[in-house]
Amino acid sequence: MFSKCMILLCVSNLIKLILSNEGITYLTSVKMNNKTEMECYGEKLNFKFQFNPVDEEWKKNKCESLGHTFITDTPFVLAYYQKYRYQDLYKVLSNVICGDTKFSTSLQKNICLSINTNDDIKKLFRDEESFNEYLNHNITFINSAFLDAAEECPICLEKPDLLVILNKCHHCLCKTCADTLLIRNENKCPLCRKYFSYYVDKVEGNVISSCSLVEYFAAAYYLDVCIFYYYNENEWMFFDKNGLNYSEEDMDGKKCIYLFQNNYTRTIGIVFETEQLSNFR
Ligand SMILES: [Zn+2]
Ligand SMILES: [Zn+2]
Repeated sequence: MFSKCMILLCVSNLIKLILSNEGITYLTSVKMNNKTEMECYGEKLNFKFQFNPVDEEWKKNKCESLGHTFITDTPFVLAYYQKYRYQDLYKVLSNVICGDTKFSTSLQKNICLSINTNDDIKKLFRDEESFNEYLNHNITFINSAFLDAAEECPICLEKPDLLVILNKCHHCLCKTCADTLLIRNENKCPLCRKYFSYYVDKVEGNVISSCSLVEYFAAAYYLDVCIFYYYNENEWMFFDKNGLNYSEEDMDGKKCIYLFQNNYTRTIGIVFETEQLSNFR
């Protein structure tokens, strides 16, 4: 069914391949090394890659079943023009399913919540302790404790309309100042000097998560769809409920979501046509 076991090192969502040859890899176990670094182990799957993206009908049904509004006229964007960062997984998913990034927050919340009760995901970890360690370090639900914090932006000292929370240290800035820091590539928290890579709106119930491969796995379950993720030359990760049991025939005509990671521009996005991928290094 599958051949050699391989190791992928995931630092946040950046995947570095340690042992590999071309093909499709299925995530089979995750080992926590420290807070931000984990080792992900995968196995090669036997079926051949095919490109068969979900169609408009699937998207419309899925979007509406999640309680959102489907927008049909999504403009075609080439993969290398998309500017989503690694942590924008849910914007990309919201965009591919509903044609709009508006639903990314509720998708992120629901998919992250689903991890707690997903036994197949739990099985990726050595034991309960390691699973909880993953949850503690990679997913933070914003609770009212954060909302009671000082309401003044430490940079401009204004009382802003929108305060945002930095992903690494959970300190708050106004959205304007946080955006300015990100644009200038000076993304250090002014209070504790920790680097941050993104922020979330300071709204109770929102979630900050690392968008690790575990979340891709959870997304495939939650959305009940197979997800292919291009992360290296001719290398795909495959996420699906029954991934390890698929044969070539099972994959025949099966519609999936195709995402990519571009290590050069550090972006992720939707694959509209596989020819795009030859433009990557
Ligand atoms: Zn400010
Ligand atoms: Zn800070």
